[in-house]
Amino acid sequence: MGTIQSINPATGVLLAEFSSADEAAVRASILRCRVAQSEWGRRSFRERGKILLQFRERIRVNLDSLAHLISEEGGKPLVESISSDLEPVMELITFFAANAARLLRREKIWLGKWSLLGRSSAVEFFPVGVVGVIAPWNYPFSIPAGQIVMALLAGNGVIFKPSEFTPLIGKKIGELFVEAGLPADLLQVVIGDGATGAAVVNAGLDRIVFTGSVPTGKKVMAAASAHLTPVVLELGGKDPMIVLKDADLDLAASAAVWGAFTNSGQVCASVERLYVDQSIAKRFTELCVEKTRGLKQGNPLDVNTDVGVMNNEPQLKKVAAQVSAAIGQGAKALIGGAAPAGKGYFYPPTILVDVAAESDVMRDETFGPVLPIASFKTEEEAIRLANDSEFGLTASIWTKDLRRGEIMARQIQAGTVMVNENVYTYALGQTPWGGPKASGLGRVHGRLGLLEFVEPRHIHINRFSRMKDLWWFSYSEARLNLLKGMVDLFFAPGIWRRLKGLAKVIVNAFRAKNL
Ligand code: NDP
Repeated sequence: MGTIQSINPATGVLLAEFSSADEAAVRASILRCRVAQSEWGRRSFRERGKILLQFRERIRVNLDSLAHLISEEGGKPLVESISSDLEPVMELITFFAANAARLLRREKIWLGKWSLLGRSSAVEFFPVGVVGVIAPWNYPFSIPAGQIVMALLAGNGVIFKPSEFTPLIGKKIGELFVEAGLPADLLQVVIGDGATGAAVVNAGLDRIVFTGSVPTGKKVMAAASAHLTPVVLELGGKDPMIVLKDADLDLAASAAVWGAFTNSGQVCASVERLYVDQSIAKRFTELCVEKTRGLKQGNPLDVNTDVGVMNNEPQLKKVAAQVSAAIGQGAKALIGGAAPAGKGYFYPPTILVDVAAESDVMRDETFGPVLPIASFKTEEEAIRLANDSEFGLTASIWTKDLRRGEIMARQIQAGTVMVNENVYTYALGQTPWGGPKASGLGRVHGRLGLLEFVEPRHIHINRFSRMKDLWWFSYSEARLNLLKGMVDLFFAPGIWRRLKGLAKVIVNAFRAKNL
């Protein structure tokens, strides 16, 4: 059994050490969880919601210490720990505790002529059973806690595997649920590395909700296929921001700087490619550089810090290598561009121009504080550039002409397209999150996300319980003619042919045996 270490990324100080849960430990957790789920799945939405509202209250009461822990182990400033990790989960609980029953209400299906023949159909939604939630380190509270809340509300048990870089936050989430009164064993936190994650996927759970990188997402999907376990994959992004010439430049520049550098750019939906109308490109770029110069980077626990530290060394090295390669290919860093020497995984907010379109900084996900700016001549070109990516998580358009913004939004291939906003809709639990192409599969949040945690069951009833069906044995010429008559009765053009069909049905109904 290996060990994992929790390290403060700003100081390098060791915070805690854990032994990784191995396959046997994961399987034992799942067994316990299944037992707890069989009772939980029978509770009403109201009962489940009450406990989840208690979880919300535990967050509120412990807000300061939780924000401290998230900033200390994760590396983002305290303000962001509250605004992007804690508050969004409270909002999500408020919405789903009040609305889950309505969102998963039994749905009657209109059956047309079959309704006249005494048939009725409805879809009802049942818990899937035990769900695996595998989470990354960049939003170590909001991503898994939101998904766990939705899975539990839908009646499931959860096996939660936090990132090896943020195990303390993962453990804390488990403790808060216990304090909130969640039945014992219903949520199992399995701490460990990638092998622990693989053990969760290989255990044949009823659903896997994975948030992480594209390469790991592919491994998860391949492993899950061995058990036909359905997967939801929330993967990366290379999200474009388009600034039209009529945009409020100061506002758009502030949004670009925040959207690219919040959480040190370690955001799946951060602004990763900025396309600005060439007529305003010079002024807009100057504004972005000026605003970036005003940012204070430092220890995330200092309340005045705007930009904290990257979460881990492999990520820091990857971003540094991408930027160096872009500069080698002719890009210019107007600010930032190299990591300072010294303690902590700090990388400075970096603005690049003249970046080669084929460089990794323009094509691969850059999980760091890097903003490449390019320009376009026409709106068509802007849309083409935005869509020229293997990802499709979010995109944003900045313009004062809302109608034009909306028309452009419909032409962009992304799961969420915002007009005069960026990044933040993950914090709106009411809205769906996820995107096409390499950004993943399925949705989390919103009703579409809730549906990922339930099994639809079609219940069909025939009220004419004494009549045999036409298509049952035994077959005969009369039966054949009766069916042909029905085809005319229901589908022939014109009333005359339909009436002839009806006559055929009546005559052959008397001739056919065993009806
Ligand atoms: P990884 O893919 O490295 O890891 C994600 C999780 O998967 C971690 O808990 C990891 O454990 C675990 N894991 C690793 N190997 C396996 C395996 N073989 N089977 C099952 N689980 C495994 O991603 P990061 O943690 O580095 O997160 C960054 C990525 O997440 C970025 O690409 C980002 O875009 C994406 N992301 C997407 C979001 C979205 O909503 N679309 C939101 C946030 C992030 P361990 O850490 O212990 O290795």
